[in-house]
Amino acid sequence: MNLVVASPTGLCFGVRRAIGQLEDALTRYGVVYSLGSPIHNPPEVRRLMGLGLKLVDCASDVPEGAVVFIRAHGVSKAEYDELGRRAGVVVDGTCPFVTNAREKAESLSGEGYFVVVLGDSNHPEVRGILSYIEGESMVISSEDDIDADTRYGRLGVLSQTTQTEAGLASVVSRLILHSGEVKVYNTICRATIERQESIARMSAKVDGIVVLGGKNSANTRKLVEAAESLGASALWIEHSDELDRGWVMGKESIGIAAGGSTPDWLINDLTEKLKRL
Ligand code: SF4
Repeated sequence: MNLVVASPTGLCFGVRRAIGQLEDALTRYGVVYSLGSPIHNPPEVRRLMGLGLKLVDCASDVPEGAVVFIRAHGVSKAEYDELGRRAGVVVDGTCPFVTNAREKAESLSGEGYFVVVLGDSNHPEVRGILSYIEGESMVISSEDDIDADTRYGRLGVLSQTTQTEAGLASVVSRLILHSGEVKVYNTICRATIERQESIARMSAKVDGIVVLGGKNSANTRKLVEAAESLGASALWIEHSDELDRGWVMGKESIGIAAGGSTPDWLINDLTEKLKRL
């Protein structure tokens, strides 16, 4: 069987950096608390919990003086402040691209712009961005959310890091019809887009694609959707143990793609298992 691994695939810069910081903290302190799951990959979270990671649902559940880890897509300003007051040590794994989006939102707000954030209003990253805005703001998921009859003052626009540049461009081209001044920051990180492009390049060359990533991972879901939209047969699993032999059999060439929160060990494990089939 011919195996093709997408490139790039798997851990993005921000999640790789965050896992490294968390592992270092676990080695140094033994027990580390995280507000919510540090990454959207259950097998990797289980591994980290075996090393001493503990998950809590809110900042007030962190014991006084504990070591706290901040996940790659960050927490809100209020949560960060509370964690800072309670914790003995804060290990900040917030991805620099996410920090950049927050800083841009804060500066636009400080300059008096009405801030428009392109993104998913329920996503923690967007909630975190909003927490740095003091003036008026709104979150939109596409140009369709822009009210046709509303005229705005000065508009400042930025994006959740995982949106597409085409989506941001269409929003901006619509907003200039509603304001005399539109200031735009492109705060998109290309990691998600690059992983979708790599699966698209691979899809015509293989008989099927195994997509490896958490079922709670939005970017992994986008990879599955990208593969299926190109007519590829996609099998979405979190761990090689879930490999369906019936799906594999009869395929001469299989592609492997992984979400941005899927660590190398899971990809290597899957590759070895497929080689043995
Ligand atoms: S997808 Fe981009 S912004 Fe998000 S954690 Fe990864 S590198 Fe950072």
